[in-house]
Amino acid sequence: MTGVTVVGGGLAGMTAAWTIRGLGLPVRLLEAGPELGGMAGSRVIDGRVEDHGVHIFPAWYRNTLRLVAELGIAGNLRETKNFHQLLPGEFPAFRTAVTPAADRLLFYYGVIDLLSQEYGARDESLHDFLRSRRYLTEAAIADIEHLFVASSAAESDAVSAAGFRGSIAAFARHPGRVRMPRGDLQQWFIGPFRQRLEADGVEVRTGRELIEVSVHGDRLQALTVRDDDGTAVTEDVTGHVVLAVPHGRLSALGGDLTGALRPPYGVDELTSRPLGALHLYLRRRLPGLPDEHIRLVGSPHAITLIDVGRAWGRHRTSVLNCVVGRVARLVELSEAEAVKLLVDELMTFLPELTWDDIEHVCYQPHFTAPFFAPGPGSGRYRPQSTTALANLHIAGDFCAAPPGVAGMESAVRSGLTAAESVRRALRPELPPVRIDRIGDISPSAARGLRMALAPFAAAVRSLAGRTRRRR
Ligand SMILES: Cc1cc2nc3c(=O)[nH]c(=O)nc-3n(C[C@H](O)[C@H](O)[C@H](O)COP(=O)(O)OP(=O)(O)OC[C@H]3O[C@@H](n4cnc5c(N)ncnc54)[C@H](O)[C@@H]3O)c2cc1C
Repeated sequence: MTGVTVVGGGLAGMTAAWTIRGLGLPVRLLEAGPELGGMAGSRVIDGRVEDHGVHIFPAWYRNTLRLVAELGIAGNLRETKNFHQLLPGEFPAFRTAVTPAADRLLFYYGVIDLLSQEYGARDESLHDFLRSRRYLTEAAIADIEHLFVASSAAESDAVSAAGFRGSIAAFARHPGRVRMPRGDLQQWFIGPFRQRLEADGVEVRTGRELIEVSVHGDRLQALTVRDDDGTAVTEDVTGHVVLAVPHGRLSALGGDLTGALRPPYGVDELTSRPLGALHLYLRRRLPGLPDEHIRLVGSPHAITLIDVGRAWGRHRTSVLNCVVGRVARLVELSEAEAVKLLVDELMTFLPELTWDDIEHVCYQPHFTAPFFAPGPGSGRYRPQSTTALANLHIAGDFCAAPPGVAGMESAVRSGLTAAESVRRALRPELPPVRIDRIGDISPSAARGLRMALAPFAAAVRSLAGRTRRRR
């Protein structure tokens, strides 16, 4: 029977392997690292299991949450209620909203305005959208822009407005609570996923890095894979291959391969940015912190954090897992210098925190494992799962997807589309692989609402202006 080799054991590759195995085909999964999971996984560093970074699962991640349910691990995620906002000098008072009510109303009006846009192939940056809306106040714009850097490492001029529109529409369609794992990603997500893969007969091999491919005619002909001890083996491809490696690794495999993608060479145009993680193990439980996410509003390095010591309920002391949106600014610094800068920044928000509190630090800037957040106009370069080579399929969070699909949802969706591409080639008699839509809001309905609310927005704008002049 024709088998399938999936290369890259991140969430995209794992989902592809799981779904293709479900089609009744033999599957082998090759991963370069010592563990599966990629960015959505964990590694042992200095004897501790460290997540690549804190991960959240919004309710509109339809395919990701369905996968979690299929794996029988829905109970491994817990719902969160709030995303707390902390301003410098305000600890221990947290806010649920930052901007004054008038700015917030204008922001909501801006959201309706964004939903009324029909972008299609024409896209613009979030920065351009926000700056062209004269009714938006500086406070509202700064708040939205900061939120984006914190979650995607991308400044607003590198964020697609169509993508933002898509995720807001999906959120409006599925407004449930955000979920997060009850503990580290390895134990509560990736570990059980790997067990299910192996129990279903997927052959998982870690420490196997694809270093070269060769193409002949319309087929992928051979793969060269290097194992842990440095031995490289070239094998002929007899079945089908799903490449689920980051877009930079795909580009490095050469023009014969990237020229076969649809669109050809588009993947060479994609860009990613590092999104860092800083984990601080404290000697005591820091008083006054919630057990949910906190955004440090206006933090120069766009830090968000969660005290997983509290949230996971397994530590008596605080463990602050921070995500650092502007970690790229630290690339020239030594690890000690970067950690000092970030901890000093944290201390301006958390005055209770002192250097004596810190027992252990794990700093992962991820400069060599950047994160893909769709930029304006990037849609035309994102590859389809089906390629011009009859036996090659592509997966990864950078693959073509409807606007708004990003992060883990994009990775899982791409694994499903790659499996569907394999099904069409090898199992056409089976029903199509199920891929759920994240949902959308009709631009014309949003336009109607925007027009109806225009006089109200104008009144709020003039009120906001007057209040500010008085201050
Ligand atoms: C700090 C941080 C926080 C995040 N938080 C969230 C969040 O809250 N919510 C969310 O939805 N998303 C989040 N993300 C993004 C999310 O983790 C990724 O979008 C998703 O996991 C990408 O999955 P992937 O399989 O496409 O790619 P990857 O995870 O990059 O997987 C690719 C795999 O391929 C392997 N590989 C690479 N080259 C080779 C090779 N030559 N041969 C064999 N194997 C190879 C790699 O080792 C890796 O395991 C976050 C990312 C970061 C960095």
